[in-house]
Amino acid sequence: MSSDEIKIPSNFIKHIIDEDIKNKKNDGKIQTRFPPEPNGYLHIGHAKSICLNFGIAYEYKGLCNLRFDDTNPSKEEAEYVESIIEDIRWLGFDWADRQYYASDYFDKLYEYAVQLIKAGKAFVCDLSADEMREYRGTLTEPGKDSPFRNRSVEENLDLFERMKNGEFEDGSKTLRAKIDMASGNINMRDPVFYRIQRATHHRTGDRWCIYPMYDYAHCVSDSIEGITHSLCTLEFEDHRPLYDWFLNELGIFHPQQIEFARLNLTYTMMSKRKLLQLVKENHVHGWNDPRMPTLSGLRRRGYTPESIRNFCDRIGVAKAESTVDMALLEYCIREDLNKSAMRVMSVLNPLKVVITNYPEDQTDELDAVNNPEDPEAGTRKVPFSKILYIEKDDFMEDPPKKFFRLAPGREIRLRYAYFVTCTDVIKDAQSGEVIELHCTYDPETKGGDSPDGRKVKATLHWVSARHALDAEVRLYSNLFTNENPETGDDLSSFINPDSLQVLPSCKVEPALADASPGNRFQFERLGYFSVDPDSSPDHLVFNRTVTLRDTWAKIKKAKK
Ligand code: ATP
Ligand code: MG
Repeated sequence: MSSDEIKIPSNFIKHIIDEDIKNKKNDGKIQTRFPPEPNGYLHIGHAKSICLNFGIAYEYKGLCNLRFDDTNPSKEEAEYVESIIEDIRWLGFDWADRQYYASDYFDKLYEYAVQLIKAGKAFVCDLSADEMREYRGTLTEPGKDSPFRNRSVEENLDLFERMKNGEFEDGSKTLRAKIDMASGNINMRDPVFYRIQRATHHRTGDRWCIYPMYDYAHCVSDSIEGITHSLCTLEFEDHRPLYDWFLNELGIFHPQQIEFARLNLTYTMMSKRKLLQLVKENHVHGWNDPRMPTLSGLRRRGYTPESIRNFCDRIGVAKAESTVDMALLEYCIREDLNKSAMRVMSVLNPLKVVITNYPEDQTDELDAVNNPEDPEAGTRKVPFSKILYIEKDDFMEDPPKKFFRLAPGREIRLRYAYFVTCTDVIKDAQSGEVIELHCTYDPETKGGDSPDGRKVKATLHWVSARHALDAEVRLYSNLFTNENPETGDDLSSFINPDSLQVLPSCKVEPALADASPGNRFQFERLGYFSVDPDSSPDHLVFNRTVTLRDTWAKIKKAKK
């Protein structure tokens, strides 16, 4: 994607940047970053932040770094780093050689901590975590000074160095900023910014046994990288005074932090901690399960990068928290695939149909349109023969008034083929279930039109039994039964037991023989489907990306 293709809709952050450019702030330079913590896979909420940070850099001819905020070795893994890189590339963004890690700055961060100690702005504290909690106070009561707060600079320097050298037990000492235990903002009550933790880091190995806290590492890393506009979600608003304090006390470059509302989406959740729990407790088959709101899950489900970027444009960027309807995300993928996906016929729940007056060994090759939205996509041949499959749902023996599809004695159109009339219904002797239909066809209606102008009320999709390929189709619905699953006591309380339905014996038209993982199709009348990575020529597997029914259009209409 070239930067000319990116133009994100106007929002309050762009207004601030326009103003900064007008005032020649930072000499008009724009530098942003996307700063994931490599402790999970990226989700659709992260896409909002990625599109914003990269989008702004592209649009203002600035730069956007990818920086891993890897300060917590116990939760971070190289697997996550790799998945994050793959997902951002897939979304269409590029950071050239500007791939950084907060761990690149561990030496610098240590030096800056020493500088704060020398300035009398930081001290080594021996309080345990429990004691520290007691001293911290509450929202309504001020905290109490640590008894170690007044250690001399020399003692602090000595202890901090010995912390680094591994002389003390994990958790036995911390380095704290000396700010104000009575501050109304709890983040300012002498926060810990270095802890002792013997854990192997995914990049620095066992070199360090002290690690900087996120709040300290994040703002200083932004400063080191010369980030002009540090865009983050609203929960960091209360941390901004602490970031300001660190940057001011250190006297280093001061990025401007701007907070925006995070994306919340109905019927799903965005917290990486909870997504990890879904994976660990086997509610899903991994981070890239097509039911997950992760980018890898959406990709496997069949979402395109364009549809996700469009979704991010549509939801916009604002200061106020809100929850976006899942139907909007579905609208965006439908809109994209409507333009690009090849149409094919597939039968998910096959019902055998014998055309009694059609010659045994004959095959017709009928012309079918590949994509009515794209004339360039051309046509293909679809084979028709004596034995076909149609969808079980498309027949009713005793149809109610509004059921216009096939029924005994009724004539309908088989798409691109012929008019057929149902003459007999064959049932299983024991269960009474309909197992086969007998129909006659009208050879005059080849292609799907009758020369005498006779009308039918339904057009059904079908496949030729002799030519069809077997396929497994996986149908997905929401992972949760509740619109806002995070209100549940525990994660499993709103889990939808039917979120995955596997149909092992579907029949698809022979044009799908070469379909390979990632290919996307519209199965006529059924929805959009994509080929799963589990698929092989001997065992085709399709995921339903989204149904054709457009609930978002209905919602929009209802709101008008
Ligand atoms: P989670 O709550 O899922 O664990 P996080 O904020 O801890 O997310 P990070 O890896 O720190 O995850 O996120 C990287 C960036 O993505 C941050 O700047 C964060 O503000 C942003 N981000 C995370 N979730 C969302 C969201 N739902 N909407 C918009 N931006 C988000
Ligand atoms: Mg975070």
